[in-house]
Formats: sequence, structure tokens, C-alpha cells
Amino acid sequence: MAERSPEMARPSFPRTFREFQDWFSTEEACRRFLIESRWPEGFSCPRCGCSRGYGITRGSLLECRGCSYQVSATAGTVMHRTRTPLRDWFCAAYLVTTHTPGFSALQLQRQLGLKRYETAWVMLHKLRRAMIRPERDRIAAPVEVDEAYVGGREEGRKGGRHGDGTKAIVVAAVEIRGRASGRIRLAMLEDVSAASLVGFIKSAVEPGSQVFTDGWQGYSPLRKEGYDHRPKTQGPGKNASSHLPRVHRVFSNLKNWLKGTHHGVSRKHLPHYLNEYVFRFNRRRTPMAAFQSLLGLTGQHEPTTYKMLYAPESTG
Ligand SMILES: [Zn+2]
Repeated sequence: MAERSPEMARPSFPRTFREFQDWFSTEEACRRFLIESRWPEGFSCPRCGCSRGYGITRGSLLECRGCSYQVSATAGTVMHRTRTPLRDWFCAAYLVTTHTPGFSALQLQRQLGLKRYETAWVMLHKLRRAMIRPERDRIAAPVEVDEAYVGGREEGRKGGRHGDGTKAIVVAAVEIRGRASGRIRLAMLEDVSAASLVGFIKSAVEPGSQVFTDGWQGYSPLRKEGYDHRPKTQGPGKNASSHLPRVHRVFSNLKNWLKGTHHGVSRKHLPHYLNEYVFRFNRRRTPMAAFQSLLGLTGQHEPTTYKMLYAPESTG
């Protein structure tokens, strides 16, 4: 969603960890960034509405110069009410944003020199919450759609369109932008029936869009549903990746990521990993948006509570 907020301040992003550390070398620098991200037009008091500015009372508490109302700069962000320094949060969010292969709590603990493993674990889970929240707006323009079996013992693809129980069916939609890919959507499906496939496309792709698929009959109701469906039957000797190249690139990277970093992921946790993959992929050219979104600086996130963190669906 962050990519859709033109009103947000979008400064350029540090290119190296060294540069990052220079930018955010003090609590004061982090606090300034926090305030500028949350009030890109300048601070205005939520109570009296004046924009005469603020004073810092202590920590991240701002005090309105007009009416003395106190506002916490961290309210609504992942950093609210934590005793962990802002610098540590910023570092953690940077590492999570830039480390394309997932990042473990142990690595985070070492990188930040934290005393307790639990601190790193909670930070990581709070930061990941923004990533594992599914993106709800629909992608548009011409898209490629295909499905593949992911996970399990071996990486087969479409073994006669039925699973062997250990693999999960994942469907992907990828925007075609010239020769490159735009945004993507992924979902885990129960089967490759028309109901499942078309249901996914209706939730992920704007109606009226051109949709390129292979010749599988599960896609045939698309035209009736208002899509400009372009099925392509696979000719003999023709490689599947040649007519849907973008979506196959996404699958192959996804599989490598799941295999390489997590040594396989159970079906139960797969949807979260898919959402995390989508989050990173769709912000691969806007790392600052990803960074701000992880910290909860987009103003759309409810603060994460301990209860939410330990809810069964948020494990991963
Ligand atoms: Zn005020």
C-alpha cells in the first residue's frame, strides 16, 4: 500500500549499510526522520490543528506550541512503547528491507549486539507483520497468470495438474511492463479448478485486463467474467517459459528463495511467505517505501500488540 501514498515523504534511500548508519547515527536523527515521515507537510497538532510547531519534551513526545498537547511521534508505529532505541529499530528495518534472503532473529541479535534473543525475535516479528499482510488492491494492465507446485520433497511442475500432498499449489499473476515485470500477486490454492483460479484472478486482477495464460480449461471462464483472456496452447517441443516468461521467472526465484533460505516451508506457513515475497518484489525499486512501511510510518497500521504477535496465524 505504501507505494500508493504520493503524499508521503519519499527521500532517497541509503545505498550501503555504512551510509545508512551515517544518516541515522543518533536517536535525534531517527526522531527527525520519524516526524518528517509522519508529517511530511510539517507538524500539525491533532487537537488544536495549529502548525506553530512543537517542542520535544522527552524521548519521542512532541508538545504543541499552541495548546501544549502532547503527541507521541511513535504512536501507530511498530516502535510505540518499546524501550528499544529508535536506532536499533531503524537498523533492523534496514536489514530486513535489504536482505533479500530472509533474516533470522539470531542474525539480528548479533548485528545489533542485543543482549536478549527475545528482543530481536519480537522486533523481527513486528517488522514482518507489515510484510505478511496481504496487499489488497488489484493489479492491472496485461498480466501473465500461471500456477505451479511449490515446496515438498521435489520441485515438480504441474504433474498432470494434481498434487502429491506434500506440495502446495501456488498461483501467480504478474504485470507485463514491456519486457520487464511490474507488480505481482501470489496465492496458495486448494486445487486448479476454474472456481479456484478464476476466484484468485477476480481478487487480484482488475476486470477488463488482458490475461495471458496457458491452455488449461480452468481459465476458460475468464472471458465470461469480463477479462480479455488470451489463452495460449503449448505447442509440441515448446518450452512453457517461452510464452509466459515473467511468471516463470517469478516462480523460479520464489522456489529458490523458499528452498535456499528456509529449507522448505510448511503449507501452513506458506501463505505468509508468499505475502512477504510479494511485499519485497513489489517494492524492489522503492526500498524507502518498504523501509517506512515496515516501521509503520505509513499511518495506516494499527500498533502491534503482544496478543496479535502470538496469535496462531502470525507465526512464520
Ligand atoms: Zn495544539
